[in-house]
Amino acid sequence: MPKIVIIGGVAGGASAAARARRLSETAEIIMFERGPFISFANCGLPYHISGDIKDRNKLLLQTPESFLARFNVDVRTMSEVISIDRKNKTVTVHTLLDDTQYTESYDFLLLSPGANPIIPPIAGINNPLTYSLRNIMDMDRIIQTIENNKINHATVVGGGFIGLEMMEAFHQRGIKTTLLERSDQVMMPVDREMAGFAHAEIREKGIDLRLNTALTAVQFSAETKINGDLTLSLSNGDSLKTDMLIMAIGVSPETQLAKEAGLDIGLIGGIKTNAQMQTSDPAIFAVGDAIEETDFVTQQQTVIPLAGPANRQGRIAANNMLGRHDSYQGTQGTSICKVFDLAIAATGKNEKQLKRDGIRFEKVYVHTASHASYYPGAETVSFKMLFDPITGKILGAQAVGKDGIDKRIDIMAVAQRAGMTVEQLQHIELTYAPPFGSAKDVINQAAFVANNIINGDATPIHFDEIDNLTDTQLLLDVRNPGELKTQGYIDNAINIPVDELRHRMHELPKDKEIVVYCQVGLRGNVAYRQLVNNGFKARNLIGGYRTYQYSKK
Ligand code: FAD
Repeated sequence: MPKIVIIGGVAGGASAAARARRLSETAEIIMFERGPFISFANCGLPYHISGDIKDRNKLLLQTPESFLARFNVDVRTMSEVISIDRKNKTVTVHTLLDDTQYTESYDFLLLSPGANPIIPPIAGINNPLTYSLRNIMDMDRIIQTIENNKINHATVVGGGFIGLEMMEAFHQRGIKTTLLERSDQVMMPVDREMAGFAHAEIREKGIDLRLNTALTAVQFSAETKINGDLTLSLSNGDSLKTDMLIMAIGVSPETQLAKEAGLDIGLIGGIKTNAQMQTSDPAIFAVGDAIEETDFVTQQQTVIPLAGPANRQGRIAANNMLGRHDSYQGTQGTSICKVFDLAIAATGKNEKQLKRDGIRFEKVYVHTASHASYYPGAETVSFKMLFDPITGKILGAQAVGKDGIDKRIDIMAVAQRAGMTVEQLQHIELTYAPPFGSAKDVINQAAFVANNIINGDATPIHFDEIDNLTDTQLLLDVRNPGELKTQGYIDNAINIPVDELRHRMHELPKDKEIVVYCQVGLRGNVAYRQLVNNGFKARNLIGGYRTYQYSKK
């Protein structure tokens, strides 16, 4: 039976080790981990900082002892693999506790070294009050600083998952927080207009959210406060005093060992692997945040640092090292993040990526109740679906709201993985009773709208076209006048409520295109159908005023 050596003892590495042992009682398995902990819950770190997870031990899912007892894996912590000798199939290990080195042989080597937080070369960034969050030690240091320094104000740079979670953790601890984001939106897996819901929520909670604002320099001053503070210079010329800084602008694959060993690195900087998780050396496998993987939708190489792919890849690598033939089938990038009371989630490709890759798409928006609206507790699910307008193939989906977001995106992830089209999506039958869903679920509704477009029963117009209407178009708001007062309206719109339209249609010109909108697109579609059935040229704003409104947030 083979001798398997694993580098990295967390998501991908520990999954591979456990799977390898389940397949073989006789394989020799050694797992090296540079840090003191293995198999810890990196995804839980921000939630211990916030106080949601009270007990730090809950983050330590396994110890070297428990891993040995259950899986008979020889776990060596504080042991950094510093080189790989591919010819002789050995690795050199640096024992951090006594600063010694030794070599260990392997039949198969698995690299699961993860990814490093990116710290850009900003002047003054290396100071005692700037942190990133990758592991338990980082977490401990952050908590220690919060508790010892009596932090009043914190700044988080980067509006990705970790940045958003850290922002919320500070807020939960009663610390005033600024979130700096260089681009025009947080949460890059969703499109700008969907991120608008998160922007509104973040600001409503009192966070100082600054979009289109980058950090350009940091000045540490030990004099102004007992433990010092920081003055941040920002790209817009502003400066900001803060007590602590978190850098969360993304991660980059840890590829140094692989590079030095001469393994192929892909064009976007991850270790190159085939579908069996083998690197350019068939005896060396690689998984997780360190690798490039195939994008499920485009079949192009991509880097998507998420725990699900790392765990599944670890399992596949173990299968293949032990003589099975298993292939990774691509990453959709299914992801979700809690932003205060909201959940925001996505799967597949977003519109920005489709445009960048020149992929043909159409999109629909639906805003509807998470369960029957008459049953208490229903919340609006704001849902966006992207699909191929010719074949109907599902390209991606995004959802934001306070309830039922994970369920909708998980369904979409399964539908996409199964290769379903939006035509087939109309027919999916989901659970329904008033506390749980609706007889026509959000997903069915989105599929109906998509099919209306494909079949020519609806001519869409999208929120991003509304500000550029011409003299040949007329904007018609079909909501009730009271709604215009409470919700707001689009400039230059005329208002004829949908229920009066049949009798007032003569007020509309036939030589102009009527651009209809309502609050979410539903009444707009009713009005649109009336108009086209009466010989008007018309389009309906998909997702209605709500999509338009939040695209501006
Ligand atoms: P890791 O789990 O990072 O493990 C790599 C290990 O290898 C590290 O412990 C490192 O010390 C060790 N190592 C590296 N080089 C060597 C060496 N030369 N010798 C010995 N050991 C070495 N993903 C989600 O899907 N959902 C989430 O909610 C989520 N939240 C996250 C929150 C935080 C704060 C962080 C940091 C990550 C989060 N992730 C989340 C990402 C997820 O944790 C990673 O995608 C996943 O852990 C990657 O697994 P991996 O095995 O590739 O790397």
